[in-house]
Amino acid sequence: MYRTHTCGELRTDHVGQTVVISGWVQHIRDFGGTTFIDLRDRYGITQLVFDMETNKDLCESARKLGREYVITATGLVRERSNKNKNIATGEIEMEVLGLKILNPSQIPPFTIETETDGGEELRMKYRYLDLRRNPLQQNVMLRHRMALEIRKFLSDVDFLEIETPYLIRSTPEGARDFIVPSRMNENQFYALPQSPQTYKQLLMVSGFDRYFQIVRCFRDEDLRADRQPEFTQIDCEMSFVEREDVLVMFEKLTCHLLKTIRNVDLPPFMRMPYSDAISLYGSDKPDIRFGMQINDISEQAKNKGFVVFDNADRVLALVVEGAAEYTRKQIDDLTDWVKRPQIGGSGLIWVKYAADGTTKSSVDKFFSANDLKDWKTKCHASDGDLMLIVAGAEKNIFSIAGELRLELGSRQGLRNPDHFAPLWVVDFPLLEWDDEAKRFFAMHHPFTSPVVDDIEMLLTDPGKVRANAYDLVINGVEIGGGSIRIHDRVLQMQMFKALGFSDEEATAQFGFLLGAFEFGAPPHGGIAFGFDRFVAMMAGQNNIREFIAFPKNNSGRDVMADAPSTVSSQQLDELNIKLISR
Ligand code: ASP
Repeated sequence: MYRTHTCGELRTDHVGQTVVISGWVQHIRDFGGTTFIDLRDRYGITQLVFDMETNKDLCESARKLGREYVITATGLVRERSNKNKNIATGEIEMEVLGLKILNPSQIPPFTIETETDGGEELRMKYRYLDLRRNPLQQNVMLRHRMALEIRKFLSDVDFLEIETPYLIRSTPEGARDFIVPSRMNENQFYALPQSPQTYKQLLMVSGFDRYFQIVRCFRDEDLRADRQPEFTQIDCEMSFVEREDVLVMFEKLTCHLLKTIRNVDLPPFMRMPYSDAISLYGSDKPDIRFGMQINDISEQAKNKGFVVFDNADRVLALVVEGAAEYTRKQIDDLTDWVKRPQIGGSGLIWVKYAADGTTKSSVDKFFSANDLKDWKTKCHASDGDLMLIVAGAEKNIFSIAGELRLELGSRQGLRNPDHFAPLWVVDFPLLEWDDEAKRFFAMHHPFTSPVVDDIEMLLTDPGKVRANAYDLVINGVEIGGGSIRIHDRVLQMQMFKALGFSDEEATAQFGFLLGAFEFGAPPHGGIAFGFDRFVAMMAGQNNIREFIAFPKNNSGRDVMADAPSTVSSQQLDELNIKLISR
């Protein structure tokens, strides 16, 4: 028998019982007369005790065990004299009467405990060992619990989980596709789906009404900490709905998850137009856990002889409450931060409205006390506050101010990971102009419906058209996004036209969807959540790799299995692929 109990199960109730447990040796402490071993499995840790006096042989074999050996121990549960309040089994220990090694282990390359000494790359290489560590086990379990709650919630309100194909047609809109050669169809390729978008819309045409899927998606993009080449979406679609119906449904799902998983009650989600998000927070995913909105002081600050402001399209100010005491060094530090290439600011102007009513600034030479007072009034600043000002081109100054705001929020401790501040960002532009390609791209995707009132502008002034799209943002992270879809062939063709497709191109690529629209497509809309991000956020973290059992590294590699890899020339021949060496 391998076990009567798990390593997380035994309590004082079991004292006096003889039990069998199996697991991994996490830690051995040898005190001469007595040897202690922490035995671990996914349920917890139990302390084993070997006593030299009562059982010399057993104690000696215990001393020979190494870390991560898999063993089975039989023994008597007894109350500990030295209780450990930090673990659930901390009141008991097992006096070992029998020991069996199931499998020895090499010395692990890093410490397999809550805190580890392993660097990220090494832990990725031995991911199966890293996954034995408690924090990762907790993350994997959290992910499971969330997936289960999502399935329960959505099934209860009639959503069906339906699988869609992973080998699909490549479509050049959106991100880059991963492509897969087809052996049976010479010189042709499948693509891995960036999302099941067209399939879920076709399911609506088929009458499935409410669909969801927890589904893997693939995008061949450059990676960041919160991106993976394959990631998971909670993909959803509904028929006979307007924007409001979708928002209400998925606000409920979000509240349900926060309540069941974190016992957090969320307030009703605010709705914020995209244009406000940009002008007040410098971001389409504002972190509204704190205020510190952006103030546009262009009118008050320009044309007073200060070239930096005069040459800028906009002058934007942030007020940091109670920070007038910031030191020279702190401000220099922030100035360097703003000037980093990733941020792209040209500098930082400061004004200190001291608590004693005096004012000091880095532009005292150019502006009078009255000017500075004007700014104070405009920005609702108070004595004791620090004002930080950036100026620059319309194109990027809002995002620079937005980044600075986030950095200040972090430095001031205003971004508590245990506090959740959700909102819907709505009324996105439908199209986005790309200077390089010299054409419009769909900001969301080409199937998103324009706001009804704006449809007329689609061919005359496409840049002005608003989309019937929405993003769910929590704590500055885009957790989900979706839209009401076009379900009318003529409008869909107009959209393709605005995107620069000829009729032939549109039909060649999306003929199946356009065709379906001619057979009674119902009005429909939906949303997809980034599941990995959502799980990470639930745990108050932002590195999604910690929440994926087998993630890729920053270069998109599976370091453990060493993928991608070369393949044999025979495999390539079968696919009719010839490598050209460069
Ligand atoms: N398919 C979309 C995406 O992956 C989400 C949606 O519109 O439902 O972003």
